[in-house]
Amino acid sequence: MVLGGSGFLGSHLCDQLLVRGDEVVCVDNFSTGRKANVAHLADHPGFELVEADISVGIPVDGAVTGVCNLASPASPPDYLALPLETLAVGSEGTRHGLELAGRHGARFLMASTSEVYGDPDVHPQSETYWGNVNPVGPRSVYDEAKRFSEALTMAHHRSRGTDVAIVRIFNTYGPRLRPDDGRVVSNFLLQAMRGEPLTVYGDGSQTRSLCYVEDEVRGLLALFDSDLTGPVNIGNPDEYTVIQLARTIIDLLGSTSSIEHRPLPTDDPTRRRPDITVARSALGWEPTTSLEDGLSRTATYLAQDSGLSDPS
Ligand code: UDP
Repeated sequence: MVLGGSGFLGSHLCDQLLVRGDEVVCVDNFSTGRKANVAHLADHPGFELVEADISVGIPVDGAVTGVCNLASPASPPDYLALPLETLAVGSEGTRHGLELAGRHGARFLMASTSEVYGDPDVHPQSETYWGNVNPVGPRSVYDEAKRFSEALTMAHHRSRGTDVAIVRIFNTYGPRLRPDDGRVVSNFLLQAMRGEPLTVYGDGSQTRSLCYVEDEVRGLLALFDSDLTGPVNIGNPDEYTVIQLARTIIDLLGSTSSIEHRPLPTDDPTRRRPDITVARSALGWEPTTSLEDGLSRTATYLAQDSGLSDPS
């Protein structure tokens, strides 16, 4: 069962589970996920799509052997626009997923986030770092929802023996990012393709480490298939400043776009880079897609999705 299965990451996870022969029930309320992300699976005999808000309940019958909880708004503009829904899905939604997994003796994978580290004062971030989060800032609706999800997951594991795993997902990009998602890669690629200025928030010295979606999903599956509880960081440790990313995208696409600075969002983390020692040693996982390859593939997708000519 993939909760949030028609979202950006969830839909790629559904694809990979079906490729290896699993049966998949995708549950989504389409608040930020798109039906188009799983439309190609509609006739697949192993695939079922259920429209439901997991904060309210998970109306699914039948045997369940695994529950992957990827249901949540994940882009800052999305969760800032849906603050109460984000807190509800992180708390009640996660509870429903955990109870379902517990009833069926199924393994539960909780998709957590690098946002649990907040604006980190330890760099790079390893799983043992407890984070530096503003619990009352605007981003707290996401950060604290995910921190609560982690706490709830561990409480079910400790008190009820539920088989769980927690993955901390770092910035991920690739095909099926919504063009209006508002995250840095989709914004910059579309702006570069349209010849519009790239909107760099702040001076662009903040850093992110970007993982291509196929690598990310391979990591999620490796953790799901293991007997680790985690949390385990899954992300690409190659770190770039936002201004470097803007220049890379302009060069890669041969764009005529300029760079325009906009105000930095409140509590925007100044740096972020995963320490993936655990994923490497315990799961044998590491990312393999170069930034240039990943960006080109994402540009092709966004161009098609937005009716622009393919830049690659
Ligand atoms: N960002 C930017 N311009 C944009 C969108 C984002 O400069 O048009 C910056 C944002 O301030 C942050 C980084 O890019 O420092 C990554 O932002 P994103 O929203 O993709 O994800 P976050 O890591 O903040 O959750």
